[in-house]
Amino acid sequence: MSFKTGGCQCGRVRYSVETEMAQAYLCHCRMCQRATGGFAAAFVQVPTDALSWERAPDWYESSPIARRPFCCECGTPLGFHFRDSAGEPHITFGSFDDPAGFTPEAHAGSESVHEAWLNTSALPRHYTAKTESIAKRWKAAGREVPE
Ligand SMILES: [Zn+2]
Ligand SMILES: [Zn+2]
Repeated sequence: MSFKTGGCQCGRVRYSVETEMAQAYLCHCRMCQRATGGFAAAFVQVPTDALSWERAPDWYESSPIARRPFCCECGTPLGFHFRDSAGEPHITFGSFDDPAGFTPEAHAGSESVHEAWLNTSALPRHYTAKTESIAKRWKAAGREVPE
């Protein structure tokens, strides 16, 4: 078995997930766009008993069929669950401590795909540590540029 941990940006909400049965995907539906602020939401779906909250999240009802865990202190979106009890947890990819290793397998909510945001691998790449306007702000805050 292999486990991954994750949580919100401020560290108040924490979870661990057994990842053997994990399925990663992107959801492009308008509710996921609004809930995460992204062009799509990146999720990792796992069986219900594969997820354990070490510190419980806050929840809001995002639609008549789904509710979403988040942190009420820092606002990090942590996933979504269908409201019926059979719903398996879908955890936000970016909330894992180390998200590397998941490969997306499908697009959901495809009626709302923004095609221009999908094929971006040819765009110029800027790196935080080499972007002076950002690096100098980290330095002024007395911190190293985060990896
Ligand atoms: Zn938080
Ligand atoms: Zn969605």
